Amino acid sequence: MNPVLTALLGLQEIDREIFKVESELERLPKEEQQRSDELGKIREKVAVKSQEVASLRAEIQEIEHTTVGLRQRLKKLESSSNDGSADAALLASYQHEMRNIKRNVSGAEDDGLKRVGRAEMIDEEIAALTAKLTEGETVFAEFQANVATETKAAQAKLDELLKERSTKSSDGISPTELETYRGLLKTREGEALAELGDGLCEGCFVNLPKNIVVRLARGTELVQCPSCDRILYTY
Ligand SMILES: [Zn+2]
Repeated sequence: MNPVLTALLGLQEIDREIFKVESELERLPKEEQQRSDELGKIREKVAVKSQEVASLRAEIQEIEHTTVGLRQRLKKLESSSNDGSADAALLASYQHEMRNIKRNVSGAEDDGLKRVGRAEMIDEEIAALTAKLTEGETVFAEFQANVATETKAAQAKLDELLKERSTKSSDGISPTELETYRGLLKTREGEALAELGDGLCEGCFVNLPKNIVVRLARGTELVQCPSCDRILYTY
């Protein structure tokens, strides 16, 4: 095998592991943030609904206050109608006002009941959301502890791998070849090389043109897959 390929395969072995550990180190804080954001959304919902229920309760109180006033007026009109002091015209006017008041009280009571119903519904929603939030916070606390442990382990593993890689020689690999290799590690998720298997690239499973296979067999240069760009090798 081309000595450059042999050296690259040696590096690939450890760079694959490094890629995995680095991906893990990237993924963990992202997932933590995502979970934290989800809890934040629930908290926000609870706040919005609490606000909504508070203004409903204020409206209900306002309605109760109004109906108390209307009832007092009604009582007064009833006693004035019954004490014999009012003439026919005044009595008619009292009755007209009393009908209006009764209608208004009845309408206000309907409104009030509707708001009470809605407030109770929202209270239930808040209770459900709060339960969900409490549970989510417990799970999140456990998750955070795990993330801390896993991050520490992954960091230690990475240090170890980096130390190991520093002992691997990249002698004989030209700077351009190294650059190509490193670029592929990034774009091809830690797999910069692919084996030639039965006329196809084992990295992307695309059939390779004959001239590629021939060039690879010659073993004098690095040959890349025309489809996925990975550096091809064969035993
Ligand atoms: Zn390929």
